[in-house]
Amino acid sequence: MARVVCDLCPRGCRLAEGQVGWCRARIGYDRKVVPLNYGRLTSVALDPIEKKPLARFFPGSYILSVGSFGCNLRCPFCQNHAISQAGADCDTQVVTPSELVSLAQELAARPAGNLGVAFTYNEPLVGYEFVRDTASLLQAAGLKVVLVTNGMINEGPFQELLPLVDAFNIDLKGWRQDIYDICGGSLSAVKQNIAAAAAVTHVEVTTLIVPGLNDSPAEMAAEAQWMASISIGLPLHVSRYFPQWQATEPATEVSVVYELAAVARQYLSYVYTGNC
Ligand code: SF4
Repeated sequence: MARVVCDLCPRGCRLAEGQVGWCRARIGYDRKVVPLNYGRLTSVALDPIEKKPLARFFPGSYILSVGSFGCNLRCPFCQNHAISQAGADCDTQVVTPSELVSLAQELAARPAGNLGVAFTYNEPLVGYEFVRDTASLLQAAGLKVVLVTNGMINEGPFQELLPLVDAFNIDLKGWRQDIYDICGGSLSAVKQNIAAAAAVTHVEVTTLIVPGLNDSPAEMAAEAQWMASISIGLPLHVSRYFPQWQATEPATEVSVVYELAAVARQYLSYVYTGNC
């Protein structure tokens, strides 16, 4: 049976007609790969920008935050698994890009204000077409576009998206490929995309510290040194894990998060702790 290759992310799923990809968000249909989650929202909220987390992008502002379903990673410790690991049978509300922009504009006119739209909660890049189409309209309307992402996308589609995005928070799950092997991803692809995005737009990085997995001070030092080679002004969020989904390890000790943040501060100007 003829298969079609999805060229959106490094997993490169080869999909037969009607077959859903690893991310649960894309399907082989009529010899093309099409998104199943276009305009299908599982979560809508007006959040403080610091909750994304973005510490150095319009601090004190609010942003309309939306999520869909699906993810191209399967981290056993996923803190958002209810939607990231869900498929097309989950409950959603359907919006068009222009409807979402209208909602963002309505919120912007209220006293609390609204910067634009953050694509977050699940992995937004597996809903690439909806993000791209909405981002174009947001940009034309003078609103901001934020992506909170795992950064696991191929270079071509990422380069097309970059001019439409005002700020990223990109996860860096650890400093070894075997950490990414557990999640089903590629460390080199994520590093490449962090560097590419930071060259042209605002980027902050988040590392969720999971006990026994990525809590080595030496590896944090290596990660921070690499980030500093891009820019010492690249902000890093060192975040505390809590047991979720398939992960049963107790929550990370707060002292460990603080210790790793102190290590990173030897190399970077802006290091923040989260969930502590
Ligand atoms: S985006 Fe989804 S369908 Fe496409 S290659 Fe990645 S995991 Fe597979």
